[in-house]
Amino acid sequence: MLSSPVYECSSGHVTCARCYGESADNACSYCDVTGCTRSRAVEEFLYGISFSCRNQQYGCNAFLLHDQMRAHEQSCHHDPCFCPVPRCGFAGQTYELESHLATLHRWDVVKFRYGESFEVPVHKPAVFCCEDYGELFHIVSSREGYGTALSMICIRPDNACKEEFMYELKIPAGGRHRLQMQSTVWNTSLRYGIGEGSDVFLLVPDKLPGNESGSVVEVCINKAAASEASY
Ligand SMILES: [Zn+2]
Ligand SMILES: [Zn+2]
Repeated sequence: MLSSPVYECSSGHVTCARCYGESADNACSYCDVTGCTRSRAVEEFLYGISFSCRNQQYGCNAFLLHDQMRAHEQSCHHDPCFCPVPRCGFAGQTYELESHLATLHRWDVVKFRYGESFEVPVHKPAVFCCEDYGELFHIVSSREGYGTALSMICIRPDNACKEEFMYELKIPAGGRHRLQMQSTVWNTSLRYGIGEGSDVFLLVPDKLPGNESGSVVEVCINKAAASEASY
C-alpha cells in the first residue's frame, strides 16, 4: 500500500504532501514554483525502499517498508529508556536500565507496590521499581533558591502504552507539621534528558524544622483510573 502522495515541480524538486499542502498556493517548498504535479514514479520509488528500525542500535533487526515501519515502531519491543545520569548515555530496556543504575551508578533500587507508601532518603539517588509490573520511577531533585525541588518521573519507552500515574510525597517537618504534595507523574523515556523537569514540584527548604539531618520522604504512587487518564 502506498503512503501519502508526493509532488514534483517543473524543476524536479520533490515535496511531500504535508509540505505541499502547507504552502499557501501549493508551491514547491524549495524554489516556490507553483503547479507541482503528483509523481507516481517517485512515490513508488520512495515507498518501495525498506528501512531499518530506529531501534537498530538497541537490538532490533526489523527491516521494513516505510508504512510497515511506522506501524512497527509504535510497538517495537526494543524502544529504549535512557539513563537519567547526566552524560552517561546508556539506553536499554526498563529492566536493563534498572540493573545499570544499580550496578554502574550504585543507585538504590526500591521495590514497591501501587497504593502502598514507602520511605526513601531525599538526597540519595534511587529508582523505584514496581514489583508487579516492573515500571521504573525516580524522584528528580534540583536546587530551587533555598531548597530542593522534588518531582516524580516514570522512565518508560516512548511507545509504551498510555498510562497515567499519580504520586504523593510527604515530608515530616517537626511537631505537627509536614510538607505534602500530590501530582501527576511525568512519563518520559529521557531521550532528551531531564531538562527543566516538571513545573509542579515539592519544595523542601534547606532549614526544615525537625528534618535537618538526612531528610526522608514518604512516597506513594498510584495508577490513575482509566477514565482519569488523558488520551
Ligand atoms: Zn524495531
Ligand atoms: Zn548510566
